[in-house]
Amino acid sequence: MRRVVLKLSGEALASAASDETIDASTVDFLAREIAAAMERGGLELAVVVGGGNIWRGATGAMAGMNRANSDLMGMLGTVINALALQDAIENHGRPTRVMSAINMDQVAEPYIRRRAVRHLEKGRVVIFAAGMGNPYFTTDTPAAQRAAEVEAEIVLKGTHGGVDGVYNVDPRTNPDAVKFDEISFDEVIARDLRVMDMTAITFCKDNHLPLRVFDLMAEGNLGRALDGRPVGTLVK
Ligand code: UDP
Repeated sequence: MRRVVLKLSGEALASAASDETIDASTVDFLAREIAAAMERGGLELAVVVGGGNIWRGATGAMAGMNRANSDLMGMLGTVINALALQDAIENHGRPTRVMSAINMDQVAEPYIRRRAVRHLEKGRVVIFAAGMGNPYFTTDTPAAQRAAEVEAEIVLKGTHGGVDGVYNVDPRTNPDAVKFDEISFDEVIARDLRVMDMTAITFCKDNHLPLRVFDLMAEGNLGRALDGRPVGTLVK
């Protein structure tokens, strides 16, 4: 694969083993996986990082906050995660750039599509922070949207909670759940499978952008997904 967008949930940076919002050893593991993946010649990798370990807009809205304000808090959370990931990836010797959809000059570059593409061409891992800069979205949709914008060939959605692909029912509550090796976007929509937000799913469908859902926390899995090996579930 040449150009890829990896969607990483904020909660993937936390750990059940520690109370930390951002667990250093977990971030280091992810950075190692990303740096190892970058050893593949010609790979261009952009990462969209979520913020759910810090704040989710919907949580504040449920407690009576203004939704747009609450979503801004969520977007700022993704910036904190992006900086943690940047630091860890660079510790593994890979140059990175954080590009934020909300301008904050002292912290990150502004997102400019052509500049993002240039960074990718130069082999830098580009971390997209602050989602799309708009409230009422989660980071699933910017993952798909940025992938289309930089002409990535696939979105890799890394899971972290032990669910290693797309199942017909929730495998955490149903022991008879069956995993799909491959499934169409139409089927995901018809069965209302919670692979990613529906906005992201319909965006991928409309823009012919395949999606692979796989367990990011299993060592070597990112590399396998990048090699096109059948890990997790391919949605297309
Ligand atoms: N968010 C937003 N617009 C975006 C991306 C994110 O408003 O384009 C906010 C939203 O409140 C979301 C929060 O940022 O809940 C954190 O992102 P997300 O929930 O996707 O994090 P994840 O579940 O991936 O960790």
